[in-house]
Amino acid sequence: MAYMCNLGNGQQVFVYNQDNQTIVTLSGTLPGQQQQSSSGFSTGKWTALPILYRNAGGFILRIESDRGPHYVQLQGSSMSAVGTTPNLENAEVIPMQTAEPPPAATMEPMKPMTPMEPMTPMEPMTPMKPMKMGDMEMRMNPMEMRMGNMGMSMGESTPSKGESNPSYRQNFCPQCGAPVKENDRFCANCGHRLS
Ligand SMILES: [Zn+2]
Repeated sequence: MAYMCNLGNGQQVFVYNQDNQTIVTLSGTLPGQQQQSSSGFSTGKWTALPILYRNAGGFILRIESDRGPHYVQLQGSSMSAVGTTPNLENAEVIPMQTAEPPPAATMEPMKPMTPMEPMTPMEPMTPMKPMKMGDMEMRMNPMEMRMGNMGMSMGESTPSKGESNPSYRQNFCPQCGAPVKENDRFCANCGHRLS
């Protein structure tokens, strides 16, 4: 929502709060042409409605925000932020009315972006923790995987060559692929002679 006021001589001022910016648009109608100029002021978010004063120097807009009061001097078709609190003792308060922001005012070019902060380097990856899902367990280095009663491991923990590890002795028939025992002379499935 914008606030506007007729300044006389066909000139109007629009003011509205956009994020932390106060956008002030001066719109003047001169014979044969329409003039419009906008400026953005970093005021912060409004905490009160803007107040327009008229004093000897022209018009002064008072913006009350969460960062304190801000003043914008309007003179002719120019406007400028006022650093010090102006003397508004004898100033006349001009009532403002609500209005839609003028279309051109929303086209106000963005202020140049502040340069991006350099990226903080990524934290080094923490080593993978043993993982457990239901009856499935997996750990790294040496890689080991366990599912219920079945276990699988590779890397450092080479299985020992013993009767306790039948999977190590598992051979397959070159003819049909059926599992055969190392000591079998014939494949139990197809009868192929195993060496
Ligand atoms: Zn076979």
